[in-house]
Amino acid sequence: MKLHEYQSKAVLARAGVPVPRGEVADNAEDARRIAAELGGKVVVKAQVLMGGRGKAGGVKLFDDADSAAEFTRELIGKRLVSVQNPQGMVVERVLVAEQVDIAEEYYLSVLLDRDVQKLVMMVSAKGGMDIEEVAATDPGAIARLHVDPAWGLCDYQIRHALEEAAIPKHARQQMVSMIKKLVRAYIDSDADLVEINPCAWTTEGKLVAADAKVSIDDNALFRHPEYQGTAQDSAEDPIEAEAARRGIAYVRLKGDIGIIGNGAGLVMCSIDEVAAAGGRPANFLDVGGGAKAERVKSCVELVMMDPGIKGLLINIFGGITRCDEVAKGILEALEALKLSVPVVARIEGTAAEEGRKLLEGSPLVPATTMREAAKRIVELSYSNS
Ligand code: GDP
Ligand code: MN
Repeated sequence: MKLHEYQSKAVLARAGVPVPRGEVADNAEDARRIAAELGGKVVVKAQVLMGGRGKAGGVKLFDDADSAAEFTRELIGKRLVSVQNPQGMVVERVLVAEQVDIAEEYYLSVLLDRDVQKLVMMVSAKGGMDIEEVAATDPGAIARLHVDPAWGLCDYQIRHALEEAAIPKHARQQMVSMIKKLVRAYIDSDADLVEINPCAWTTEGKLVAADAKVSIDDNALFRHPEYQGTAQDSAEDPIEAEAARRGIAYVRLKGDIGIIGNGAGLVMCSIDEVAAAGGRPANFLDVGGGAKAERVKSCVELVMMDPGIKGLLINIFGGITRCDEVAKGILEALEALKLSVPVVARIEGTAAEEGRKLLEGSPLVPATTMREAAKRIVELSYSNS
């Protein structure tokens, strides 16, 4: 789960990383008050979960509280569009922070290197710009250092990496300390990414995190109830955001045939079969193990929130999941949602007989195999187009 910048900075600050003072606001009046408290010389930053906010017009410097408030008024409710996020995101809040007098911009991050099963720290003197671009055009400008899970990082290793990344000598001592705190922050917050870009060297000779990005490992979210319902509210896709709120594994794709199955493998396979039959899958949705009728209904509802859906394929292989429960859920969904698109269901496994019996007489089209189901739904969905 990606955290907003203001939440990310709080995580870093807790570990002792220097961050500019600031507060979040959702209206111009609050922005004016915060800016005034900070002395008027502030930066106003859109809190949206996307990269490239600066270029998208979501980050601006001001000399007085009134103009900061004015900009906040314009920004709230506006959709920001960037190269990284062409569909854009609506700004609900801004961070009003004291301005940093930036002399130099560096890049710092800690993330998981799954290949070597260790954390890796990345550092570059080319900060402030898109790190993917640096990696593509000048890979030598990024130094990497693996973090030993037992020993952590030693100062000499960090200094070596800073030398390799050509970080200017004057910034190195503070950076060694910052990197150790960054690793601490990563571990203590159950993160799967922490990134500071730009890590700013100020004209007064201080190193501060001018921007911050923290992502929390989804598997650890149960330990962090404080994030519930905050970062997801402006997630990239509204249906994915709703799925996250309902605790459903859903990924939106670009097509028009809705897919529901149980078990990630079976769902992916269903997506492949629909594509092989000439269809365009609209989503990935795994109802999970042992789903009850209520959850199945909630899943159908979610898939149908996508306005372009032309048909729905339900592919269940009952193990722990009971097919009669699934059938009940489908029936409730058909009833409640008054579905006007064709629905094909292939239901097999535990209590499949009972499930199929329940579905008899409903407008739903039964299928015996996954391939047959995929072919049927493609035919039915595109029959009048
Ligand atoms: P991003 O574009 O979403 O990564 O947003 P950033 O917070 O990184 O801001 C983009 C750029 O705005 C940074 O690279 C800086 O050059 C500039 N910027 C952001 N905050 C400040 C600040 O406090 N002072 C100055 N001088 N520039 C800033
Ligand atoms: Mn940035």
